[in-house]
Amino acid sequence: MMRAYRLTVVIADLTDYRMTVCEISIQVACRKDFCSFRERKSFFLFRFVTKRKEENKMTIAVLALQGAFIEHEQMLQKLGVHTIELRQASDLQKDFDGIILPGGESTVQGKLLHDLNMFEPLKEKIQSGMPVLATCAGMILLASDIAEQDETYFESIPMTVKRNAYGRQLGSFHTNAEAAGIGEIPMTFIRAPFVESVHADASGNTPEILSIVENRIVGVKYKNQMAFAFHPELDQDTQIHEAFLGMIR
Ligand code: GLN
Repeated sequence: MMRAYRLTVVIADLTDYRMTVCEISIQVACRKDFCSFRERKSFFLFRFVTKRKEENKMTIAVLALQGAFIEHEQMLQKLGVHTIELRQASDLQKDFDGIILPGGESTVQGKLLHDLNMFEPLKEKIQSGMPVLATCAGMILLASDIAEQDETYFESIPMTVKRNAYGRQLGSFHTNAEAAGIGEIPMTFIRAPFVESVHADASGNTPEILSIVENRIVGVKYKNQMAFAFHPELDQDTQIHEAFLGMIR
């Protein structure tokens, strides 16, 4: 026998908390003994986690060769952002909206980027305007100049950074300080660099200074790039990552 039902379906999309309500009519062919329940308006809650929806979500690629990349991924996931890891050249062909260059050891990361043929394509992406958040060693990779060192990397922010700049005793420390546009935030420094000086580029633009700790520049923004000498991913405060996502949205 055939039975007709009118259903009110509530689709709750838990990836962005949007609800869609729709009415559908269905006809069900069933055996008599299976249709003993009363005809009534039914409410269904479906959770759809579809591939299509995943594609609509913002995706951030985290350079995952060495250093503190997992902590960045965890922070982004807390903010509801899809992450992928950049581990080999083919990962750079994937679809993503922004890049994180994590802390670690800039010399090791630089060498691996070259060995794995990731350096040039990544440099191209940064130069073509892909938003980048760089922390600590990541900041060193972006600097046009590195004090007391000939080797440089992406050279995409006109500034001179000094590596391991806080001396042995102060190699690691924690403080709270202002970040422009955000307010006071916790800052964890681990054998951190600082920015010795920012320079004017060919068009006369200099990087914007976002943060100063003990008279040293520790945060800058230049075009599509934000770079910090500390590790925002190691504290619970998500505001630096949110500011970065705000550059993309
Ligand atoms: N000292 C490291 C370097 O020179 C940076 C340290 C860090 O990323 N925490 O690359």
